[in-house]
Amino acid sequence: MAGTGTIRGPGVAAMGGNPMSRLIEESFQPANPIVRVHAWKAALNDGDCSINLLTYHSVYSAIIEQAEAALPNETGGFLLGHAGFDPDAGSWYNWIDEAVRITPTEANPVHCCFTWKDVDQVRARREREGKSLIGWYHTHPGLGIFLSETDLQKTHQQLFNEVFQVALVYDPISGRAGYFFREASGFLDAGTAGWREFQLVKSAIGSDSDSAARSFHSSAETGQL
Ligand SMILES: [Zn+2]
Repeated sequence: MAGTGTIRGPGVAAMGGNPMSRLIEESFQPANPIVRVHAWKAALNDGDCSINLLTYHSVYSAIIEQAEAALPNETGGFLLGHAGFDPDAGSWYNWIDEAVRITPTEANPVHCCFTWKDVDQVRARREREGKSLIGWYHTHPGLGIFLSETDLQKTHQQLFNEVFQVALVYDPISGRAGYFFREASGFLDAGTAGWREFQLVKSAIGSDSDSAARSFHSSAETGQL
């Protein structure tokens, strides 16, 4: 486009890169990209602090695809993004923009597990990308949405013990999913609860790599639990 040589933001020189290649790259980006997200808010019992999650639809698409490919076995991975805390409200606002799958070493229909190698890899990736480890996800094919004693004691409390870290459970048979989180007291309700659940629905029209092709509907619309 005309006059591109005069458009140089302060960041171009500061980054020390090739100004022209940066301008060409930026010219292909939409000015104001909008990302489809799913907003989920925790219902807390103690006080009015809260945990709010904004998860990219592309994260769910990746999880759905991985879950179906793994059937009848369980599978899982890590949730990366950005953790934000509003000290006035005492509330967390966490973005989840990336699902990092693991390759289970001993997956079966009722169990999958993380290895320390997986953990080390995701920690290195988190640092490279300047992100936070918001939590983890795993599937419960046909089992429902809860954290087992093993999920809670061996995985969540061991590897994800930051106050803002959450667990996502997805049942690829029913299409239901739900988040688990700690309250300010440290208490974590690992049981089945309709309020935490939502429906992940794949688009009926084909399946391609475009995350927007998969639609997502919250059960809150219908009140179904
Ligand atoms: Zn589990």
